[in-house]
Amino acid sequence: MIALSQDILAEIAAQAEAEAPNEACGYLAGRDGVALERYPMTNADASPEHFSFEPREQFAALKRAREAGLELIAIYHSHPATPARMSDEDIRLANDPDTIYLIYSTPEDRIRGFTVTRDKRVLECEVQVTAETPR
Ligand SMILES: [Zn+2]
Repeated sequence: MIALSQDILAEIAAQAEAEAPNEACGYLAGRDGVALERYPMTNADASPEHFSFEPREQFAALKRAREAGLELIAIYHSHPATPARMSDEDIRLANDPDTIYLIYSTPEDRIRGFTVTRDKRVLECEVQVTAETPR
């Protein structure tokens, strides 16, 4: 399970809208399955159908999380025109079985979470949206 606040969800939705028709993406940093910070990232693919991170930005996000005593617990991206489910491309590119992949669908206004095993099985991960960001 992953918990994130309404505020973080609203920020993801706003970023998705701002970057449409391309996919928006980023990291959530936190601990113990609770997201505490959002790090928006550039979609290096600038594509409506897939995304990738810039290695330099990725390194900066990792550093920022470490300095805050947090871990990068989830990777999120938006689906500007399709439902919140893992596309074939998403599954293919999901190479960290310990990361939660969050997908926010703009048309559905919904976020769902998934993990992907090493043998590419997709498991749904419950997303709990909380009223406030816990401290
Ligand atoms: Zn996707």
